Amino acid sequence: MVGVLPTSNRSVVWVGAKKLEIQQRPVTSPGDHEVLVEIVSTGICGSDCHNYESDKVSRQLVLGHESSGIIVQVGQKVKDRSVGQRVAVEPGFACMECEFCVRGNTNTCANLKYCGLDPTDGTLCQYFTCRASMTVPIPDNVSWGEAGAIQPLAIAVQLGRRAALNAHQTLAIFGCGPLGLLILAVAKAYGVKKIVMFDIEESRTKFAESYGADVGIVTHKNDSGKDSLTFAQDFATEIIQKHDIGSGFDVAVEASGAEVCAQMAVCIQAGLGKPLTAVPLFLLTAKDLTIKGTVRYTPGCFEEAISLLSRKMVNLKPLITSTYPLTEASKAFEAQHARKDIKIVIMNQQ
Ligand SMILES: [Zn+2]
Ligand SMILES: [Zn+2]
Repeated sequence: MVGVLPTSNRSVVWVGAKKLEIQQRPVTSPGDHEVLVEIVSTGICGSDCHNYESDKVSRQLVLGHESSGIIVQVGQKVKDRSVGQRVAVEPGFACMECEFCVRGNTNTCANLKYCGLDPTDGTLCQYFTCRASMTVPIPDNVSWGEAGAIQPLAIAVQLGRRAALNAHQTLAIFGCGPLGLLILAVAKAYGVKKIVMFDIEESRTKFAESYGADVGIVTHKNDSGKDSLTFAQDFATEIIQKHDIGSGFDVAVEASGAEVCAQMAVCIQAGLGKPLTAVPLFLLTAKDLTIKGTVRYTPGCFEEAISLLSRKMVNLKPLITSTYPLTEASKAFEAQHARKDIKIVIMNQQ
């Protein structure tokens, strides 16, 4: 069943601070329970860039973790995947044996291996071998461009689960970057009643409005002389009154990492901020609030993300602002570093 392996496997390798190389890497023959995927598209994001900017290269690592492609070989014992099938690759390989995995919380697996994070090579290559169960089928009506952003959409779906997003809520999203916009897309698909988005850049709040936010609000720096908590609280009160949010947002998602946002309102922390952030805990008690964190995705999130795309409940096309051939990955990472694009997708076979 295992056929001849492809001879070319151009891979994007991180060799130093802001230094990538295209290297030929061997193609691994799929084991009994594995498949070989010809990768077609891969989104890149802030966490790839975090590697790229660092000089802490412990080994020459292949980057990338947001990929989709076509199965070209299946292992002897694979029953439910077939050659020619379009699939997304789940990049987190949970051990399925630790306490967290056994409880179904594979996103916090104690032994998690993650594509593009040392020691696990990523998917910015032409061919990738993985367990068949780590591939999720994609219907034909989802474009390859959108398929390159299924993984971040799955993260937004997981956030939707954590926040129990539903049609009766008002939602504040802090940060109009890719993560904030994906959360907006999921919230719209779930029928959330009113969504207000915040960012420090007007171009981003304007885009969020064009992408479905009810209101986009530019937040300004605190030059009022007030302490940061009073400033944040006064600003929040003003917004709630002006935009008729009743006695406050039902759910607030922090997708920017900025401390001042956490002081305005936080129910779900999704952005990676500084390690220590001052949060007004007294409000937690006074208002009987709940704060949750969210990381990666849990079983079923990929399937739900793909279903949203296939049913046209979510349209990722407006978010994909550039595509690059794999051979020009350096340019793609420079653009990601410059943060001018929303979502960049690399075409792995080009
Ligand atoms: Zn990512
Ligand atoms: Zn585990």
